[in-house]
Amino acid sequence: MSDCPVIMRCTFFDDQMSDMPGMAKLIQVQYCQNDFANCARFIISSELGMGSVPGNIFPGHLDKARRILADNAE
Ligand code: SF4
Repeated sequence: MSDCPVIMRCTFFDDQMSDMPGMAKLIQVQYCQNDFANCARFIISSELGMGSVPGNIFPGHLDKARRILADNAE
C-alpha cells in the first residue's frame, strides 16, 4: 500500500496526537500508510482542499466528513 498523498501537509498528528504516540501509530498504520481513501481528513481535503479540513476532525469521522461535503455542495 502507498502512503497518503497529503501526509506531508496533514497537521493531524501535531494538532491532536502529540501526547498520544501509541494511538498515533495505530492511526498512521491503519489510515496514512494503508486506507487513506477512507480517512475523513483525506476525503475532505480531496474535495475542498486541506484548508477546509477542521483541525479537530479524526480520520474515522466519516459522518462529519460527509456533512461538511454536503454543506459545501449546497
Ligand atoms: S490523517 Fe488522513 S489525511 Fe492525514 S496523513 Fe493520515 S490518512 Fe492522510
